[in-house]
Amino acid sequence: MKREIVCGKCAEQWQKRKYVTRPAEEHIKVVHGFAENDYLCDTCNAEINKNVQCAAVSLWIDHGGIPYSPWEEDYIEIVIPVSAEK
Ligand SMILES: [Zn+2]
Repeated sequence: MKREIVCGKCAEQWQKRKYVTRPAEEHIKVVHGFAENDYLCDTCNAEINKNVQCAAVSLWIDHGGIPYSPWEEDYIEIVIPVSAEK
């Protein structure tokens, strides 16, 4: 599983990518929330300040690699819980 903390702008892009056609075993999960700390966006390197809206993105595949397990709460205060989806 790949984990990224991304800024609000990149979160929108990731959100869209969820609906782009890709192999069935590939998964993207985007969880929106507020930063628990100061971070740098893993996608565009923008500063994400504490308490600013951002998102936690998980990428994983069904076979091989590390399966998904919740990690978002350690980094963001989750506002919209999103179930695992394709
Ligand atoms: Zn960004």
